[in-house]
Amino acid sequence: MCGIVGYVGKREAAPLLMEGLRRLEYRGYDSAGICTLNGGPLQVRKCVGRVARLEELLKQKPITGSLGICHTRWATHGLPSDANAHPHKDQSGKLALVHNGIIENYAALRSRLLRRGHKFLSQTDTEVLAHLVGYHVEQRLAKGKALTPELLADAVLASTREADGTYAIALLHSGLPGFLLGARRGSPLVAG
Ligand code: GLU
Repeated sequence: MCGIVGYVGKREAAPLLMEGLRRLEYRGYDSAGICTLNGGPLQVRKCVGRVARLEELLKQKPITGSLGICHTRWATHGLPSDANAHPHKDQSGKLALVHNGIIENYAALRSRLLRRGHKFLSQTDTEVLAHLVGYHVEQRLAKGKALTPELLADAVLASTREADGTYAIALLHSGLPGFLLGARRGSPLVAG
């Protein structure tokens, strides 16, 4: 288990988030990733290896916005790889999620989502959770509800009721460019 940092405020998120990841490096990790929002689609950069490598990637392909999440990963489900690094997106590509911990029943959840037509790009339990939250968001939107922070929180609650294990997560949705959501079960998460 490694680290999650999120930021929502007035400043550029990426430099603050990267500073957060540097401070968490002592915990050990195999890959790192970041996602910011600037009113458009999700901007995701992630790679296997050191935080310094992610910094190089950001120099080549910068990301912008004053809302973001980032992560250092210690692989439990799926090898260390660019594809398995967090953040992971849901099926719609509008939601990004970072996660520390383990979803114990991820295989059963994954099978259920596969039957519903979901396509996965990684071997992680985390991507299953991203898709599960996305599924609950889409279910609510299909009933004619508007995308709001409350709707997203409700979808996360529904997902955490289904997902067994100990974990902390942070996520954002491109339709809610000022909103960052964190949740935890057992694992620590600090808001400040
Ligand atoms: N189980 C997740 C994975 O393998 C998260 C691991 C972690 O806590 O960094 O990607």
